[in-house]
Amino acid sequence: MANKWVYLFTEGNKDMRNLLGGKGANLAEMTNLGLPVPQGFTITTEACTQYYEDGRQINDEIKGQIREYMEKLEAISGKKFGDIENPLLVSVRSGARASMPGMMDTILNLGINEQVVDVMSRKSNNPRWAWDCYRRFIQMFSDVVMEVSKSKFEKLIDKKKAEKGVTADVDLTTEDLQDLVAQYKVLYKNEIGSEFPSDAREQLIEAVKAVFRSWDNPRANVYRRDNDIPYSWGTAVNVQMMAFGNMGPTSGSGVAFSRDPATGENAFYAEVLMNAQGEDVVSGARTPMKIEEIKVKLPEIYKELLEISDKLEDHYRDMQDMEFTIEDGKLFMLQCRNGKRTAKAALKIACDLVAEGKIDKKTAVLAVDPRNLDTLLHGSFSKETLKSAEQIGKGLPAAPGAACGKIVFTALEAKNAAAKGEKVVLVRLETSPEDIEGMKAAQGILTARGGMTSHAAVVARGMGACCVAGCSDIKFAEDGESFTLGGKTYKEGDIISFDGSTGNIYDGALEVSEGAVEDEDFAKLMTWADEFRTMKVRTNADTPEDAKRARSLGAEGIGLCRTEHMFFEGDRIDAIREMIVADSREEREKALDKILPLQQGDFEQLFEAMEGNPVTIRFLDPPLHEFVPKTEEDIEKVCKNTGKTAEQVRAVIEGLVEVNPMMGHRGCRLPIAYPEIAVMQTKAVIRAAIKVQNAHADWKIVPEIEVPLVGILKEMQFVKKIIVETADAELKAAGSDLKYEVGTMIEIPRAALTADEIAKEAEFFCFGTNDLTQMTFGFSRDDAGKFLDSYYDAKVLENDPFAKLDTEGVGKLMKMAVELGRKTNPNLPVGICGEHGGDPSSVEFCHEIGLDYVSCSPFRVPIARLAAAQAAIVNK
Ligand code: PEP
Ligand code: MG
Repeated sequence: MANKWVYLFTEGNKDMRNLLGGKGANLAEMTNLGLPVPQGFTITTEACTQYYEDGRQINDEIKGQIREYMEKLEAISGKKFGDIENPLLVSVRSGARASMPGMMDTILNLGINEQVVDVMSRKSNNPRWAWDCYRRFIQMFSDVVMEVSKSKFEKLIDKKKAEKGVTADVDLTTEDLQDLVAQYKVLYKNEIGSEFPSDAREQLIEAVKAVFRSWDNPRANVYRRDNDIPYSWGTAVNVQMMAFGNMGPTSGSGVAFSRDPATGENAFYAEVLMNAQGEDVVSGARTPMKIEEIKVKLPEIYKELLEISDKLEDHYRDMQDMEFTIEDGKLFMLQCRNGKRTAKAALKIACDLVAEGKIDKKTAVLAVDPRNLDTLLHGSFSKETLKSAEQIGKGLPAAPGAACGKIVFTALEAKNAAAKGEKVVLVRLETSPEDIEGMKAAQGILTARGGMTSHAAVVARGMGACCVAGCSDIKFAEDGESFTLGGKTYKEGDIISFDGSTGNIYDGALEVSEGAVEDEDFAKLMTWADEFRTMKVRTNADTPEDAKRARSLGAEGIGLCRTEHMFFEGDRIDAIREMIVADSREEREKALDKILPLQQGDFEQLFEAMEGNPVTIRFLDPPLHEFVPKTEEDIEKVCKNTGKTAEQVRAVIEGLVEVNPMMGHRGCRLPIAYPEIAVMQTKAVIRAAIKVQNAHADWKIVPEIEVPLVGILKEMQFVKKIIVETADAELKAAGSDLKYEVGTMIEIPRAALTADEIAKEAEFFCFGTNDLTQMTFGFSRDDAGKFLDSYYDAKVLENDPFAKLDTEGVGKLMKMAVELGRKTNPNLPVGICGEHGGDPSSVEFCHEIGLDYVSCSPFRVPIARLAAAQAAIVNK
């Protein structure tokens, strides 16, 4: 039997999202539920994959089925596609498995041409509507299918509005639209070199191709990378009978949410733009009618929408985001999906649904995207700061967070400035999907136009960026190079601040204070998550402040303390430099004696902060180039402290230069050359542990001493011997029976390959996946960013392997190391402390291969807790 590439809405259901995409599956489900859905069919995601396999062509079999299903739709609708008696117009819309709002393309009013527009005018007695459909179609088809920039058409329409002295598209007359259609066609011919296509079937196939192609557009690729959506999934295409929102004052287009997507409040929310098509709502070019107004002006529609909203939410057991059209007073549903929401809303909705008895705790834990939690932990302006702040305006609180930075007006400027380490805010009339990279790079996004569901709002919410939308008081200058707000003029480089939770905009720089997680729902959901997860979550912390913060976010220990980071600041680095330039053991020991009390003090504070939970202290792993004195001033200081001449110090520095410092004299290679370093660090750890243990009889302090960059068993044996001898002597002198463990990072491929050997000495393993990734790929950790973009473009890689664990390669080594290590020692504790320890999909992999804990930066601890719980639930 031939493949089935196309499904009528009546043939699908909500469980078919892999094949029909989210939109297609839900259109089918709404049809099954008896809701008013304009009928249509879905071309499957498999057809999209096939299109790419066939060299970006739709093969004859698929084309044949599209034709066949169009005939079925004609029978259902009683109209005919391309007909000049009773024409059928359709929309063609993308719809992937996971929703990607605004990333792919849509074409409305397809099937129209010169003759069809005449029939539509005549039969409806509404020529303005007919011509409005036509001019929209030419614009969308040219943009999406033929890649003639939308802005060229917009210029023509803006010119027309200026000529007529009107501001809104809806104020243009039939004649204006007819004239515009003529101008559009000329523009099309000039750009493309042929007439605008009038054959409905040709339009359809080209549109389907364009949607398939849009799966691979740059913004979709960026969005997928950010949201962990595989390229291989492809998008489905939905072909649906048009419902017209642009028929006049009794028609409109809108969006609705069954609960508030910003706060999670159980309050129905909707926006409608009268006499408009869907694109007008999403683009945010006009500001829509809000719920209070809808209730009064469209009571019947309001009632019906509310009923549908309740029905869908009960059915899907989650907050629904719906798109609808009102065609001459009659409501049609065009889409429903589990709505995108802020972290705060996600937590509240999950907890409320449990309280309402609609879902259980497990479902609630699965319902919150761990990546989304990031936004909760983002900063805000403190009450104190706000007291003296000068508010200059207010927009819609579209996505939470606090932003402060220099103004830029384009996404490219935002991206470039951020690459230079500058903090910028992106101020736009409105945003479009092309702006995504700039939006990501900016501290926040501020737009003059658009509602809560405009592109800026939806995308910012999804990516966790602070956004204030629809601040209509912003007036841009003609040249777009400045704007006025609150009586002041702002140009590029001026500083403003704004609050995505209140919509308030302030003059100048306001201090952003760290996010405080005092949310009741957050605490509740985290408690539930902790009930399900089997992996522990620790933190990577080098300072007592980090450790305390992580502890308050639920860290159950320190999985990595990078001891070299304890020396970055103040005059501490002087002591390290003295050690580096020492040219005899005696000199080195003298420098180390200065370091010892500092280290011990720090370790004591870490043990205190962790309240008896495990603390892994990794011995020095300084890439030396980060620590050697560089400036004349630094060199002078070293001379003063050591009594050496500048020439002597320079000679030492020159001797330390390494061609490839990341593979140089760091990690365990340091104490093999200079054992006194390990001696000093062991003393500091053991002395600190004894002291804190003596002060807290109810805690059980078992310091975990970790040797970095081991690849050879004998390296481990050599360093461990120094540690054990020193530690035992310290314990004996103190009369203490404190226990301690000596383990290793697994971050060199050779260590993973010989893990059974290494486990004979190491009492625990912890994967350093930063170095393990670097050395497995042979990609420099510091430089890979320079070429990874070209890897994404060429589809060689879909994600940054330093952010998302490469489970195929690096993961294979990890799995092997766990198995080999536990063959030698079945009780071997194994964790991970590379950056991947806070990345949800990597956390899931760690669960699958049986790790005991993940360790990540403090702010990612809640993300890891939730991801670990989800992994445990899903993999049960
Ligand atoms: C690692 O390599 O993954 C690791 C945690 O160590 P560092 O990042 O300090 O090299
Ligand atoms: Mg490392």
